[in-house]
Amino acid sequence: MSKSILVWFRNDLRLHDNEMLVDAIAKSDTILPVFIFDPRNFEETNLHALKTGWNRTQILLENVDSLRNSFKAKGGNILIHLGYPEQILPELVEKYQISEVYHHREVASEETKVSSAVEDQLWKLKVNLKHFIGHTLYNKEDLPFPIKDIPDVFNQFKKKTERDAILKPCFETPQVIKFLNIEDWGELPSINTLFSNKLLANEFSAKAQLSPFIGGELQALNYLDNLLEQCHELGKISPDYFSNLSVWLSLGSLSPRMVYWKLKGIEALNKSLFQKILLGLLWRDYYRFMFKKHGNIFFKERGFNSLKKIPPAANSSKLKSWKLGNTGQAEVDLIMQTLNTTGYITFPARALAASYLVQKLNQNWTLGAAYFEEMLLDYCPASNWGNWAQVAGVGNDAKTSAQFEFEKLLKGFENKKFHIASSRI
Ligand SMILES: Cc1cc2nc3c(=O)[nH]c(=O)nc-3n(C[C@H](O)[C@H](O)[C@H](O)COP(=O)(O)OP(=O)(O)OC[C@H]3O[C@@H](n4cnc5c(N)ncnc54)[C@H](O)[C@@H]3O)c2cc1C
Repeated sequence: MSKSILVWFRNDLRLHDNEMLVDAIAKSDTILPVFIFDPRNFEETNLHALKTGWNRTQILLENVDSLRNSFKAKGGNILIHLGYPEQILPELVEKYQISEVYHHREVASEETKVSSAVEDQLWKLKVNLKHFIGHTLYNKEDLPFPIKDIPDVFNQFKKKTERDAILKPCFETPQVIKFLNIEDWGELPSINTLFSNKLLANEFSAKAQLSPFIGGELQALNYLDNLLEQCHELGKISPDYFSNLSVWLSLGSLSPRMVYWKLKGIEALNKSLFQKILLGLLWRDYYRFMFKKHGNIFFKERGFNSLKKIPPAANSSKLKSWKLGNTGQAEVDLIMQTLNTTGYITFPARALAASYLVQKLNQNWTLGAAYFEEMLLDYCPASNWGNWAQVAGVGNDAKTSAQFEFEKLLKGFENKKFHIASSRI
């Protein structure tokens, strides 16, 4: 009997540097790529925000569509469903006599809860859910310490990792893929189908083209190549330089290892560019590994500081004015308005707006983190909740927390730092 492996795509929407896909192709006769739009990701949370807003929904749709086109170019497709993975995947396994299901392991609790539920259901069918690691620059087994001993202080993590960790080469992009024969691959949903609140859905559909970036693996790779081509013109990179790569890294249409190895190629031409982006990638890895090490604690309002006084998570008028960019603090208002219209603001802008909510408006930080979760088109749980916890002074690295002092941030802040190209790139 021929062997088929179901490849469940989530935040890994690419063909390049994708171990899960390469392994599935090597170990099967045919593969069945699947993407599931989970309705829970488009609902309102108990922190007065949506789990996914219009901008990330739009970029997610573009990313899935781009992946679909890449598979079509190889003579196949990706099966698209709307529903709960723990129901849909076992049904597909039975219907298509799938031998094994592959996916990338996540670190945040809601995502791991879904994969555990999938694993339980598959187990009843005696089918294995195989986990891969593909979101970080360094694989956890290539770090110089076990997860439980990873330093909580970022600078120590960075120093030891750069010195002693092993960085793997990228996995080759598969050239030939044999797909399971499927008649109906399913439609890409529209924004209107994903949101049950139709008023909201209409508003979101109208806004969708305002997002400054276009999602998709090809877009990501072109963007990266263009950026590297400019490495001469960019000259010495200042701390104010931002690559905007998080837009594609967050949904996995760009692999951090691909960024690293391509950057390595121009290191001799522009060392400061290499170092600036590498520093960002290390921060990204650090937060993911901290989530792996400490689990859910980053989502708790007191975090690592059980004595910290935290105001109640109320939907107050102060919170509402912050969200609308209507607080009266000029820089913060402009930042929040930019976030609301584009879904994208730079690191100093995020830090300033977040510290204002916590330190000046004295609001519960989890409400701010939840709003960023809704609005940011590069949202990822570890980077968002990890950074917010540090801003709120409930993180695990006191030195990092100290850098998020509002007055200090405001002094160093210039408006130009959050302006990005307005055309869709
Ligand atoms: C309150 C707050 C919330 C944030 N929420 C998110 C989020 O949801 N998703 C997200 O990707 N980043 C988040 N960040 C981190 C950071 O602001 C963005 O990663 C950064 O703005 C991306 O810009 P860039 O691609 O130009 O970064 P570059 O400086 O060019 O860095 C390259 C890459 O490294 C990663 N990176 C850089 N800085 C950080 C950092 N401090 N923490 C984690 N990763 C980093 C990003 O993936 C980035 O694309 C948050 C920061 C703060 C202060």
